[in-house]
Amino acid sequence: MNKTQLVNVKPPCIYYERCGGCQLQHLSNESQNQVKQEIAEKYLSSFGKVEDILVMEHPYEYRNKIQYSFGYGRKKELIAGMYAENSHSIIDIDQCIIQDPQADRIIHTTKKIMKKYKMEPYQEDRETGFLRHVLIRTGFTTGEVMVVLVTAHSIFTGKKNFIQLLTKEHPEITTIIMNINNRSTSMILGDKETTISGKGYIEDILCGMRFRISSKSFYQINPKQTEVLYNTALKMADFKGNERILDAYSGIGTISLIAARQVREVIGVEVNPDGVRDAIKNAQTNQVNNVHFYQADAGEFMQELARRNEPIDAVIMDPPRSGSDETFLNSLCSLKPQKIIYISCNPETQARDLEYLLSHGYRVQKIQPVDMFPQTSHVETVVLITRENK
Ligand code: SAH
Repeated sequence: MNKTQLVNVKPPCIYYERCGGCQLQHLSNESQNQVKQEIAEKYLSSFGKVEDILVMEHPYEYRNKIQYSFGYGRKKELIAGMYAENSHSIIDIDQCIIQDPQADRIIHTTKKIMKKYKMEPYQEDRETGFLRHVLIRTGFTTGEVMVVLVTAHSIFTGKKNFIQLLTKEHPEITTIIMNINNRSTSMILGDKETTISGKGYIEDILCGMRFRISSKSFYQINPKQTEVLYNTALKMADFKGNERILDAYSGIGTISLIAARQVREVIGVEVNPDGVRDAIKNAQTNQVNNVHFYQADAGEFMQELARRNEPIDAVIMDPPRSGSDETFLNSLCSLKPQKIIYISCNPETQARDLEYLLSHGYRVQKIQPVDMFPQTSHVETVVLITRENK
């Protein structure tokens, strides 16, 4: 990538200065790419050449998931939006340019219905009111939409009317879930939930396969770039067909099932029970028989595999931002897979984990950043690591 002077532009979003969601809107698209490349290089260039970041052609309206908090503004008007950076004050957002525009319209209608029925938003400071957050997830390929109403308690007065009005105006909504969060916490979702309309999950299609997604399961938020990410990872893996592989931190089983077409057997491990339940259903829906999913902490699971000396040819790992832990990495090294494909949304923790692998007989072969989160400073990277001596 040619490095040039960064070019400033007028941020296209009017909330940019206050909202913490995006960090790079004040730069041209080319300059944003350059900044991300530099972030990836800062952490990873000591391991080898960092390839040019794979960018998104239309870097807007890519998010398939929104989470808005509800409350009152200064004049006691109903507001809904993101929290201002590092605070719990809500910015009333009409339109978010990185999100699915349909979700903004559903939020508008929700506000309209709330005003009509005098439904109270939750007020954090006083712990009064009803609606805390609305989470919307869209299956971009199927068009299915999930709305999760996060409420402070379980008594939903006027529930029937609310559902009727919302789904009449938005027939694209295929399921509505009521999630009860009665704790004073910054966590959005509570533990208890009930499906109040539709089947309780949505489906989407990635790399030609169909995936169901429940409200609490992880699903990549930029499906278009997810296909780029997965194709990059599988191309690096260069499977020959007879491998037995492990997909660690497997979520709803997307990577496992897509990879299953190219190998003999896949084992997926994921800690979230809802994700594992979705993954098992997804294997059935797509008629994939050479995959087994386990619900466990990835580190403990790896330890058990290592103890039993299970033969594993390759590991694809995609941990959360905190990266992997020593239990996992230590067992990974004793399992001695020939190849590791490490997908990460945080190059800093990835670099820390790579150091560990490098000091245990592995070497980095390829480093490829992918832009999964345009307008923000988040960087996703895929790294191919192989064993030095067989
Ligand atoms: N590979 C999947 C999911 C990646 S996100 C995809 O591309 O969609 C990371 C996943 O790791 C999440 O599903 C999260 O629930 C899971 N996770 C977090 N900590 C874990 C742990 N200690 N053990 C196993 N899974 C974990």
